[in-house]
Amino acid sequence: MQSELQQLNSAHHLQPFSDNKALAESGPRVIKRAEGVYLYDIEGNKFLDAMAGLWCVNLGYGREELAEVAHQQMTELPYYNLFFQSTTTPATKLAAKIAELAPAHMNRVFFTGSGSEANDTNFRMVRRYWDLKGKPNKKTFISRHNAYHGSTVAAASLGGMDYMHKQGDLPISGIVHVDQPYWFGEGQDMSPDDFGIKAACSLEQKILEIGEDNVAAFIAEPFQGAGGVIIPPPTYWTEIKKILAKYDILFILDEVIAGFGRTGEWFASQYFDLKPDLITIAKGMSSGYLPIGGVIVSDKVAQVLIDEGGDFNHGFTYSGHPVAAAVALKNIEILEQEGIVAKVKDEISPYLQKRWQELASHPIVGEARGLGMVAAVELVKDKASNERLEPDCKAGGVCRDFAIANGLIMRPCGDTMIISPPLVISKSEIDELITKAKKTLDDTAQFYG
Ligand code: PLP
Repeated sequence: MQSELQQLNSAHHLQPFSDNKALAESGPRVIKRAEGVYLYDIEGNKFLDAMAGLWCVNLGYGREELAEVAHQQMTELPYYNLFFQSTTTPATKLAAKIAELAPAHMNRVFFTGSGSEANDTNFRMVRRYWDLKGKPNKKTFISRHNAYHGSTVAAASLGGMDYMHKQGDLPISGIVHVDQPYWFGEGQDMSPDDFGIKAACSLEQKILEIGEDNVAAFIAEPFQGAGGVIIPPPTYWTEIKKILAKYDILFILDEVIAGFGRTGEWFASQYFDLKPDLITIAKGMSSGYLPIGGVIVSDKVAQVLIDEGGDFNHGFTYSGHPVAAAVALKNIEILEQEGIVAKVKDEISPYLQKRWQELASHPIVGEARGLGMVAAVELVKDKASNERLEPDCKAGGVCRDFAIANGLIMRPCGDTMIISPPLVISKSEIDELITKAKKTLDDTAQFYG
């Protein structure tokens, strides 16, 4: 029997990334409140949120200071836009703060309302850049299969998710995809290092096939998040860097998940020693308390847009919304003042990763991997052959349901179970996470037993 709220939901709500028919039958889980790393549903169940919402609540739930700053900003200036030669104090201060934390060659920020809008912004900004450089043929974007860059038309096209492309005739023209560095899923016939080089080389092959003069940019996540926490073999980025240095194309690093401390550095560019021309940001920027995203722009790109560009005819009503910007600024200040990013690097992520590796010996785990504050396990029936538990990767959904029954939010991605907890998770909460994850794997193994 569904509650009144669940019935209302079934009657009126069309939800994102959901089978709304199945949802209407089962009734959604209604999350009512949250504190620290815990969520509570309307029935009083408590869950350890090992996904930090959608990879975004870096600071954890319930930080009063963010609510206070939002209230203060809403009282003083609830809205104004950044169009037509205006700005607001929070938007300007936030841009300056991000420039301070970003790699040294990146000193400007273009604000959006989300990560998807930021990648659509990249699409237009990069093409504008090449037009201004007198190279209008440089239009094609190279991305990777199984990448996730958002849900708007250009962002979903930049993404490499087939199940998304099938809906809405995507990708749009001018976007092509190359290999992902997914060793467990696609490379086990060679060493991880060799496979990393092979996956990277597919970028060079594509550049040569299309012609350097027609390629605008390469876009990639530092590690693929929604694709299944796919961490490239160490050789991958080294090889990609060599390829990027050889050809005159721009490099967009999508740090919507990785940015603002998730790797133990402010940005994954610093973690992997990469030098992007543009960085996509969102999520952890405000710890998800309010929607905000943006693009960090390198001096090289900004200079052309500013000196030669005149008007850039692009922007959103909510670009750098003052309340969202004030909350993001406060969020970053707290991350800084409480030394959370340094603590992630020195203490919390090594502990999480050490304990996560204990799952590797579980009979239905083919691989346990992770870096910083993200991790994944691959569910298999047979450790030797890595045969899956059942066809069509349905075991992930089964495992997710056991996790929820055990009070743990983990996300399935096919047969890969992934986590991305708040950066403020304590060691004892990590212990609880691992205990619950082990129990969940036991339950899943017994189900298939
Ligand atoms: N880029 C990456 C790497 C993401 O993981 C996401 C969202 O999960 C996006 C872009 C899209 O961000 P948003 O959902 O804020 O539009």
